Amino acid sequence: MSFIQSRLPYGIIFIWACIIFFFTLWDIFYQKEWQQELLAVYGILLILAVVLIFLRSVHKIDETASEEEQMVYYQCPSCQEIFSISKSQRDAEEFFTLTCPDCGKTGKISTTPK
Ligand SMILES: [Zn+2]
Repeated sequence: MSFIQSRLPYGIIFIWACIIFFFTLWDIFYQKEWQQELLAVYGILLILAVVLIFLRSVHKIDETASEEEQMVYYQCPSCQEIFSISKSQRDAEEFFTLTCPDCGKTGKISTTPK
């Protein structure tokens, strides 16, 4: 599961929102006059949230597209990263070279899945 797919980015934004809310209360109680700075941070958080939602929606389109094509999964012997290629791509040749998207290691793989 990638960082974008996970709930972690939402958690980070939520924690930041809590911290900023705390500083907002602090500002109100102690008259610190941080309104401009706080407003700027609120703006940044809002942009981050919008970007995150956008990235996730783009990823969802990718997922539905890949469902139509049968995927074959391979595990990199070097870094154990699991990655997928389309079945049609795999069937094109008897042997083909795969490059691991994670560590960049290349290797020839038989078309018979493990
Ligand atoms: Zn690898």
